[in-house]
Amino acid sequence: MAEGQRTLESLCIACPRGCRLRAAVASDGTCRIEGARCKLGREYGRQEALSPRRVLTTTLATAWGRPVPARSSRPIERGLLLDVQRRLADVVLDTPVHAGDTLASNIDGQGADLVATADGPVPPSPAHEDVGRSMDC
Ligand code: SF4
Repeated sequence: MAEGQRTLESLCIACPRGCRLRAAVASDGTCRIEGARCKLGREYGRQEALSPRRVLTTTLATAWGRPVPARSSRPIERGLLLDVQRRLADVVLDTPVHAGDTLASNIDGQGADLVATADGPVPPSPAHEDVGRSMDC
């Protein structure tokens, strides 16, 4: 290994074959990938070595109890995941949500939206609230 060079091993997940990749990143930022059987794997290995990205999966609280599951529409920089998760922990949805709804656009300028993956809870209707009140009497 050359001076100032770092190496990184990963498993390519771009197809089921699962090739073991080895990336050598030089101090000038150039990257050499070994173990990839195709161009897709070389690109995956290069991205893993230089700027790994992951799909964000999370849940958001709602005003009616059950949280809503959500995920980013595409991978975002792995280094941003924790910070985004922390900010989302303070969010409470107070409008009805349906699967496929966009909950946030262009997360941290990553070009990915946060999308609900299931319907959220149904807000209680005023009629139900009346029933509940009458039962308490
Ligand atoms: S390197 Fe190519 S063949 Fe190997 S797992 Fe990745 S995509 Fe599949």
